[in-house]
Amino acid sequence: MANKLKIGWFSFTCCEDSTIIFTELLNTHWKNWKNQIEFVHVKVLKKSPEIIPEMDIAFVEGAIAGDRQEQKLKDIRQKAKKLVAIGSCAVVGSPSNQRNFFNRSQLDEIRPILERFKYKEKVLKLSDIVKVDDVVNGCPMNEAVFLQIMDKLLNT
Ligand code: SF4
Repeated sequence: MANKLKIGWFSFTCCEDSTIIFTELLNTHWKNWKNQIEFVHVKVLKKSPEIIPEMDIAFVEGAIAGDRQEQKLKDIRQKAKKLVAIGSCAVVGSPSNQRNFFNRSQLDEIRPILERFKYKEKVLKLSDIVKVDDVVNGCPMNEAVFLQIMDKLLNT
């Protein structure tokens, strides 16, 4: 393949278990993928640039908890031809959005943290902010669905 598919992997508010699954999948799939893909921003694999690069595909896990995260997600969206939401936190917001369901006294307890870190009133899923082209559900992500999407991307 003359032009490799440029791929980025990004994590927001979450436990990053799908990142672990992704890196584990490289053990068995890298040989097949290495001539077709180029990682342009995958912090778990290599030092990645602060400025978000142009990409063919951005895989994004985690929910959006703060304004800075929202800006970064919009930047990723602008730079990526396709954006795939990875895992339940990115797709529907849960379980990273537990505080959205807190009662008044629970919210009062965490208020200083929300203010200190300039967190949003509500934790958002990716599609609340940007267009999402595809999703991989599951907590962590469903490996089989992720591999199907990779196949589709590599063969179009
Ligand atoms: S969807 Fe589950 S595994 Fe993925 S980041 Fe959220 S809590 Fe972690």
